[in-house]
Amino acid sequence: MILFKSGAELAFHLQKKHASGSRIGFVPTMGALHDGHLSLVRQSRSQCSLTVSSIFINPTQFNDPRDFQKYPVTLEKDIYLLEKAGVGALFLPEVEDLYPGGLQDLEKYDLGRLETLLEGKYRPGHFQGVCQAVRRLLDRVRPDDLFMGQKDYQQCLVVRRLLDLMSSSTVLHTCPILREADGLAMSSRNMRLSESERKKAPLIYQSLVQIKTGWQEGRPAGSVLEQARDLMSSEGLRVDYVEIARAADLAPWHEGDEGMAVALVAASLGEVRLIDNMLL
Ligand code: AMP
Repeated sequence: MILFKSGAELAFHLQKKHASGSRIGFVPTMGALHDGHLSLVRQSRSQCSLTVSSIFINPTQFNDPRDFQKYPVTLEKDIYLLEKAGVGALFLPEVEDLYPGGLQDLEKYDLGRLETLLEGKYRPGHFQGVCQAVRRLLDRVRPDDLFMGQKDYQQCLVVRRLLDLMSSSTVLHTCPILREADGLAMSSRNMRLSESERKKAPLIYQSLVQIKTGWQEGRPAGSVLEQARDLMSSEGLRVDYVEIARAADLAPWHEGDEGMAVALVAASLGEVRLIDNMLL
């Protein structure tokens, strides 16, 4: 695995690989890696001849500066895991490399309603920050395929929109959510949970399962959601939202809507905010 700090050197290396016929898969991350991240690497390796990954804790996507400061960093272990997983090139940019003009007055993307729904509502500016970083990473890597996790459902829709806005030929693959044995979705943030918070965290998954069961039994969405909210609140989880939306665009689900639906949850335990979702 070759490590690159410079975006220009990475781009030069990958242009040569492309020219010699490599199919390049890209797995961007913020580090503190777990098996969910590595599942994206595995999927990329099954489809592409060269897998590139990046570790970059992007300052512009943190609406809460404390969350940015406390974001876990486990760089040496991450490098070891990515090398073992068969990543060919790892990009470790500094903020100055991706944002040479500084962090002020950055470009804005037209994300439509995705910007103000769900995560967008609770984390103003978050998805603009995601786009600013992903755009800069894509400009340097120019992958054929991009692998991202369904765990961040809304982020996948936002990045799909970004690729459209860029008229990019990169293909986005949305990969399944990897979970711990008790159902908790793997997340870098889980390591910040205390022992007692960790015991309560699977309630998010249990609520989603309960919603799915109720939904399949044909119960009204309102009562299914209320029951799920009660389940989480009763154990002290602070629920930002628990909603059922149209899977295609996350518009609120209305009686009589056609197509696939998705249930989405965001809830906090102590200082740690967790998100999860499940297709219904
Ligand atoms: P992050 O490092 O949190 O920015 O995540 C990097 C990528 O890994 C994103 O595309 C996430 O959606 C994906 N990811 C995070 N958690 C999981 C998980 N439990 N299962 C599958 N993919 C995940």
